[in-house]
Amino acid sequence: MADDQPPPRLPVCDEGGECLLQDYTIAGGHGIRRYRGKKRTFNNQFLGPYIEHEMNRCIECYRCVRFYQDFAGGTDFGVMGSAGRAYFGRFRDGQLQSPFSGNLVDICPTGVFTDKTARFRARYWDYDMAPSICPHCSLGCNTIPAARYRELLKTMARRNDAVNGWFICDRGRFAKYPVNDPARPRAPGIDGVEASWDQALDALVQRLGEVTALHGQGSIAVVGSPRLSLEGLVMLPLLAETMGSGNFCFFTDKDESDKAKAAVEKLTLANSASMADVQTADAVIVMACDLLAEGAMMALAVRQAWRNGARVFLLKANVGALTAEVGIVAEAVDSLSAIPFADFKRPVVICGTAQADTATIEKAADAGAKISYLFSGANAFAAARLSLKHGARDLQTVVAGGKIKGIIAFEADLAADLVEKLPFVAIADYMPSDLTGKASVFLPATTTIEMDGTFINNEGRASASKRSLNPGCP
Ligand code: SF4
Ligand code: SF4
Repeated sequence: MADDQPPPRLPVCDEGGECLLQDYTIAGGHGIRRYRGKKRTFNNQFLGPYIEHEMNRCIECYRCVRFYQDFAGGTDFGVMGSAGRAYFGRFRDGQLQSPFSGNLVDICPTGVFTDKTARFRARYWDYDMAPSICPHCSLGCNTIPAARYRELLKTMARRNDAVNGWFICDRGRFAKYPVNDPARPRAPGIDGVEASWDQALDALVQRLGEVTALHGQGSIAVVGSPRLSLEGLVMLPLLAETMGSGNFCFFTDKDESDKAKAAVEKLTLANSASMADVQTADAVIVMACDLLAEGAMMALAVRQAWRNGARVFLLKANVGALTAEVGIVAEAVDSLSAIPFADFKRPVVICGTAQADTATIEKAADAGAKISYLFSGANAFAAARLSLKHGARDLQTVVAGGKIKGIIAFEADLAADLVEKLPFVAIADYMPSDLTGKASVFLPATTTIEMDGTFINNEGRASASKRSLNPGCP
């Protein structure tokens, strides 16, 4: 290199630490060479609020197209041009339509697609990270939340071949989770007025004593929910026992509780289907659910089965979305008896518990196929299993009994009309809601990624989630 040349600059961009090409280039010493030819440059596209496009970094490996079109069934993204002018993008600017588009960020080996929500916020080696479980539905996809300075910056997929494989859905990656929400309640409160932890705990003990003295020991109910960790759920009956109250609930809603319990009672080690089972099935029956809304990664598993030749039947399920967004061609049927189960060796039934009634849920398991239920929350399986074990009732039933005068709710999504007549409502939660500001006593809680915990997914698989960041304000 001539003396009058500027000093060499290493080829480092914002994908640094996550780009093997960049690592190899520097490791091989190519960072000190200079390229004197005319460089190809491309226009970048606006691909929506989540993904940044930087086409000049493309090495034309085609991984993005193979994932987007072949694996995920997307149609609005592809490769255009030829030879040295191949362009990976959309026909025109616009948000990527696939519900799995965020995986482009992980799949592209260079920095063509980066997570716009975390751009220029930190280098890879700056992140606080730990293996975690997605809290947004009951499938329990494995994730890695990445945080810096106690602020959650982004979420990446974590490989688990029996669950989500290499990928996660856009909801798991981009959905607003209240870790950084400015509205997240951070301080304890008494009757809507901010208080110290000591004051709030003193008020809790004092008011519990008053309610119990006035109405008897069984007048307080301890309430959990399907988003509470297994460790939290297990503590509910112990806390109720310590307080001398026999009332504890793992669900607030009766319908949700009844259906989750009916489904869990039907699941066994032998008949429970994982997403890996769905991928290798030769027939998939999707019944009574909107698969993309209730467990999007299951739709991706169904697509792999369909690509491998499986027949897909839809029974009271959302046909349009599966075809339009995941490209599955499915056959609509009226009843389970219309499906020729004897023709298949590895059939799997997928049944949603939100739309199906209890009889349908039970019938789905008796069809002679492996079964996969979709539940209402990340830990609904555990909540239902513990409800059955302890004979626990839901909060709706307990309140209707008329004896309850107060509740202590842990991360429970309470309906205002269910609890507004109770004289005492204590809430421990991290979600902002109208009720947290009005609670008799409020205690701020940690999100699932700010603590260690165990979550049991829809097939009954327990997975550990580790603390990714310390709780506290960013
Ligand atoms: S994955 Fe990235 S590097 Fe590979 S072809 Fe697509 S845009 Fe280019
Ligand atoms: S399918 Fe459910 S668990 Fe998996 S990434 Fe999406 S929202 Fe999260």
